[in-house]
Amino acid sequence: MMSDSSRRTGTRVAGLLALTTALAVTACSRGTTGSPGAGDSPGGTTGVTAAIYPLQWLAERVGGPDVTVTGLTKPGVEPHDLELTPPQIAELEQTRLVVYIKGVQPAVDEAVEQHAADRRFDAADRVKPLAASAGQAGEQGYAGKEERGAGRDPHVWLDPSRLAAVATGLGDRLAAADPAHAQAYRDRAAATAAELTALDGELARGLDTCASRAIVTSHTAFDYLAERYRLRQIGISGIDPDAEPSPARLAEVAKVAKQEKVTTIFTETLVSPKVAEVLAGEVGAKIAVLDPVESRPADGDYLSAMRRNLTTLQAALSCS
Ligand SMILES: [Zn+2]
Repeated sequence: MMSDSSRRTGTRVAGLLALTTALAVTACSRGTTGSPGAGDSPGGTTGVTAAIYPLQWLAERVGGPDVTVTGLTKPGVEPHDLELTPPQIAELEQTRLVVYIKGVQPAVDEAVEQHAADRRFDAADRVKPLAASAGQAGEQGYAGKEERGAGRDPHVWLDPSRLAAVATGLGDRLAAADPAHAQAYRDRAAATAAELTALDGELARGLDTCASRAIVTSHTAFDYLAERYRLRQIGISGIDPDAEPSPARLAEVAKVAKQEKVTTIFTETLVSPKVAEVLAGEVGAKIAVLDPVESRPADGDYLSAMRRNLTTLQAALSCS
């Protein structure tokens, strides 16, 4: 009798369990808005949108195989005047994280504000910013954009030690956005930060003993580099590489370049070298390319572009 009753109870429990399971399955298949669990989106990675090449490089390093990074600025395009296409706006509405620096690209700043305000990572928030320099704030273009950038110089990535701090911050942010891969993000962020710290050491040693410390550049992108390695930047045009410098500004730069006995005027791959050539003729200097790494280099990556910059600077500034 006892055994009979317990058998019946057992059957009832099994039936109840089966019912509960069936309900749970129904509930799951109905839920369309819940956060996705592991493996529920085939081949699913976290979508990350990067506004500018150095941040794209960083997001790919830190995100690794757990993210799909889309760059808003195509290779070979000067990024400051970027206009966004409707598909790019649509992507911003859906992406899990936008990595950008407020103040570099007015169109991106505006679109992020409107479409991705809750999913943004401003790399410059992670570091001690420099104020926009006099050259940037002058008549050559930055004045009108200054409000958007809150007066900060946005070219943070040209100091690898600051970019290392950004890598760590991005690892934490991706870990929060995609907790299933949190440890992998933090590990890759630490490895990337270590690479950037090594690069910082190379630049510090390589630029320690230069006879000259003044660099005349096309647009004032290099203040972070200059501050970190004790150089002095004299920018021909402001923050916008396309802005034509006034004759008065050119004359002023020529005067300073002569005083500083500058032997090289730096230009950029994505900017017409004409202004730099005129200035070099005036001063009796050579021309060399210093890459602000605002666009993907023709070969190599952020790290190799910065190492090329080091070699270029060492030659131009007579560093032993
Ligand atoms: Zn720039």
